[in-house]
Amino acid sequence: MIWNKKLIAELFKKPFFDLLKQAHDVHHQNFNHNQIELCALINIKTGACPEDCGFCNQSAHFKTGLKKESLMSLEDVVEKAKKLKNMGVQRCCLGAAWRTPPKKEFPKILEMVTEIKKLGFETCFTLGFLDKEQAEQLKNAGLDYYNHNIETSPEFYASVVSTHTFQDRIDTVETVAKADIKVCCGGLFGMGETREDRISFFLSLINLKSPPESIPINRMIRFPKTPLQDVKVLHMFEYIRTIAVARILFPKSRVRLAGGRIELSESDQALCFYAGANSIHVGDVLLTSQNKSYVSDLLLMKELGIQPIQPKYL
Ligand code: SF4
Repeated sequence: MIWNKKLIAELFKKPFFDLLKQAHDVHHQNFNHNQIELCALINIKTGACPEDCGFCNQSAHFKTGLKKESLMSLEDVVEKAKKLKNMGVQRCCLGAAWRTPPKKEFPKILEMVTEIKKLGFETCFTLGFLDKEQAEQLKNAGLDYYNHNIETSPEFYASVVSTHTFQDRIDTVETVAKADIKVCCGGLFGMGETREDRISFFLSLINLKSPPESIPINRMIRFPKTPLQDVKVLHMFEYIRTIAVARILFPKSRVRLAGGRIELSESDQALCFYAGANSIHVGDVLLTSQNKSYVSDLLLMKELGIQPIQPKYL
């Protein structure tokens, strides 16, 4: 199927249960639909980011009161990662609030990649913009995935960020793919964008040279003192529709419930899993915001008969 805006719009417009059924069938054909990937995100550097993304409480442009933290030591990162093994985490993601990784910190980042990989995790980092050389060095250090979200449509992007462009994001995603690192690239929904923007976002993902292997479908968290603190909340059914559309458009990609999952009830999450979400971030904190508790995730998976994928280190 060659997707275009009109066809994606038709998906979004389908009756809710017809859309979910179609997405579920696609999910069933391509994955074990009763299995889920567990990821965890370690925040290795917090706040003081020079970018002005209007949804983010880590931007230095907004006085959000967030406590800044400089780059975590390798020892602390490894200690935190070891604890994730007790949770059965398959993919260990490390995130830093940078425009791009500073030259003086980069050797430490490469060491972190290698040490996390040695522990038997799939490795994923999110560090901001990368150039070709940085991407190749990360690949050589053992990086499996790089996360860099395009967030929304090209048309809407400039109304939430002014310090870089949508094309800058696309360029890093393409650089990462060229270095043979798997791409994790998704969006943030509920920033005041229209459905037309969500459709255009998906078309931009489709138009990447290679489709992302992981697609986080983040839900807006309205951080106080950020420009988007009062934005209208996205209806949960529209969020679930977005999950279903992601599954249909990207049958073989992992579709992840990531930021903002805290707002989803158990029933909302069950509908998301039915609609094709097959990856979650576990851990009580996700970057700078609260996440579902690990115990509640285990209980929900048990209720639904869903098993986590067994990590390689087990
Ligand atoms: S680049 Fe990332 S950390 Fe920095 S303000 Fe934007 S979203 Fe936040």
